[in-house]
Amino acid sequence: MATKQMLFSSIGDQLPSNTDKITVVGVGDVGMATAFSVLAQGISSDVALIDVNQQKMEGEMKDLQHGCMFLNAKISAGPDYSVTANSKICIITAGLRQREGESRLNLVQRNTEVLKTIVPNLVKYSPETVLIVVSNPVDILTWVAWKLSGLPKSKVIGSGCNLDTSRFRYFIGERLGVSPESVDAYIIGEHGDSSVAVWSSATVGGVRLRDINPTVGTDSDCENWKELHKMVVDAAYDVIKLKGFTNWAIGLSAASIARSILRNSDKIHPISTYVKGICGIDHEVFLSLPATLGRDGVSQVTNLALSDDEQCRLKISAANMAEIMAGVEF
Ligand code: NAD
Repeated sequence: MATKQMLFSSIGDQLPSNTDKITVVGVGDVGMATAFSVLAQGISSDVALIDVNQQKMEGEMKDLQHGCMFLNAKISAGPDYSVTANSKICIITAGLRQREGESRLNLVQRNTEVLKTIVPNLVKYSPETVLIVVSNPVDILTWVAWKLSGLPKSKVIGSGCNLDTSRFRYFIGERLGVSPESVDAYIIGEHGDSSVAVWSSATVGGVRLRDINPTVGTDSDCENWKELHKMVVDAAYDVIKLKGFTNWAIGLSAASIARSILRNSDKIHPISTYVKGICGIDHEVFLSLPATLGRDGVSQVTNLALSDDEQCRLKISAANMAEIMAGVEF
């Protein structure tokens, strides 16, 4: 274009393309909260969107592009997976919701079919990518994505209990009048009903809660701290009842995982990862344990010293997962 040529003098080759590209698959409530968290926090300056709903995808892309003066980022979207090429991270939020009366296994099978159309395409255009799965049931779909991707285990991560742990720390902090950031406590296992609250090692400001209340989190605790775990498990149902879906907290959670990977931070997140052989689990399952995240995904998983009760619950959670996974057809 003549105007462009008159406006600029070229001083060399084009700069290499960005190295912090993130693709978000699914531009629904969760996908857009994730994309917005990533952009607004400056985690990536290059975000690609993909969805089967072309009209919604184009609308979301344009809406974000119109905010370019405030984001300083490139936003792209297209009908073809080539738009995702060279993504460092691909976050999968696409999925179908449970139908009334539908079994969990049936939903897993339907969402497996959805992942079959997504995962091979992502890996084709970004063979070095790290996959973050958010779609539910997240632990099983992370295993499905790993199987479909051909990527190393370390590079396929489920958002898992990263969100549940944030909710747990929020509820503990609220009860004690301290910031959730000063609470060190984890939810592990399945993202869902069979998750495990690790009360045995929960600390606040360096003080182990169990040292000052030996029954904390148990049935015999007269202060009923156990209730906080139930609040974590019920949190999504509660929000869905009020507004129809959850999106902001899970968007922030997925973005925080992406940041730790892109920054090569070695930060510990309770995310869903391959746990066979760890913490006494002998099934080939993906469940949440605190793990170190860096540029290549998961580098280390913490050997948590669990109480007998926590260990038993974690094993039951793993066995439940394995049973459902055995019914998945590829
Ligand atoms: P939504 O219905 O608003 O959005 C889903 C999007 O996926 C839609 O835009 C749809 O067009 C798209 N999609 C469907 N099939 C596709 C395909 N084959 N390729 C590309 N895009 C496709 O749903 P939502 O509220 O955004 O939730 C998305 C998923 O996230 C659900 O599975 C939900 O259960 C899950 N979720 C997980 C957590 C968590 O903590 N892991 C929290 C909240 C929601």
